[in-house]
Amino acid sequence: MEIKQIFDKKDSPIIIAGPCSAETEEQVLETAHALVGQGVDLFRSGIWKPRTRPNSFEGVGVVGLPWLKRVKEETGLKVTTEVAGREHVFEALKAGIDVLWLGARTTVNPFTVQEVADALKGVDIPVMIKNPVNPDLELWIGAIERIYNAGITRIAVIHRGFSHHGKTIYRNVPFWQIPIDLKEKFPDIEIICDNSHICGRRDILQDVAQRAMNLNFDGLMTEVHPRPDEAWSDAKQQVTPARYKEMMSQLVIRKADTDNKEYKHHIDHLRHEIDEIDNDIMNLLSQRMRIAERIGEYKKRNNIAILQPNRWSEILETAVEKGKSKGLSEEFTSIMFKAIHEESINHQERVMNATDL
Ligand code: PEP
Ligand code: MN
Repeated sequence: MEIKQIFDKKDSPIIIAGPCSAETEEQVLETAHALVGQGVDLFRSGIWKPRTRPNSFEGVGVVGLPWLKRVKEETGLKVTTEVAGREHVFEALKAGIDVLWLGARTTVNPFTVQEVADALKGVDIPVMIKNPVNPDLELWIGAIERIYNAGITRIAVIHRGFSHHGKTIYRNVPFWQIPIDLKEKFPDIEIICDNSHICGRRDILQDVAQRAMNLNFDGLMTEVHPRPDEAWSDAKQQVTPARYKEMMSQLVIRKADTDNKEYKHHIDHLRHEIDEIDNDIMNLLSQRMRIAERIGEYKKRNNIAILQPNRWSEILETAVEKGKSKGLSEEFTSIMFKAIHEESINHQERVMNATDL
């Protein structure tokens, strides 16, 4: 696959901003004018809105497309909107939209992605593909392939986080490893972080944007509204153009790498220390597994079950407490110990099932 950049601009991230939804011509133009001179490459605005629940505002539809045309004429900004079917694609192309995007609820459905892909055959336009609502890398890749097979080569992806059940500070949890894995598979694809839909709230937008920059993401998409509290959709996560300007001015853009000798020397030294520690960790884990095997043999001889729930809860609790006192998060310690425990059980199981004991 030969995926190209969505714009001929490099060395600085792709900056996308604009309201969640186009509500009125005035609101769209007011937002766009306020964003001029803020380094924005692309003005976003949803014309057709996929909403989780019915009876919510579902977008103004085609009447809003000329508003985006006016944005282009009056501000020179390029414009983008979400498409979720054949009609949307035709209308958006007719209206001269510069870039299209597929929403999370579209990427999740191969029928709809294929419909959009078919409508794009023979068209040369950049397309951005949001991650599917669920953390399924294959579905995301499938959508990229369908759009690419339709002849579209300027493709970027947008990480907007994943649906979840249970308590978290995010609206959609960012599993950063998933876009990182995607980048490994498609090294040329640009990855944009949609901090608004990850956060669902204003107070952590900056942290998530910075996190994306720290991970060397290629761009940011943020929802901006002149009066966020009055927005017809996603009111809680939108920010005013003034707040947006402040946030962007505080953002530290990281370089991918450098040729600076002193930096290289120092980082090599630190990496060497890390490698040694990793080596020790692996040796200790291997020793731990050998002991687990001895336990397995002994349990087998005495006909005792492998899993001892009380002992396991005790190990986990102690580890989490110890981890906390050493600056390791509860989440990390518990994931790590669950993995170690599972591996220990597998080793014990192998010993128990062996016939030569
Ligand atoms: C949006 O960008 O406004 C939107 C609906 O996003 P998502 O598809 O990520 O939910
Ligand atoms: Mn939105």
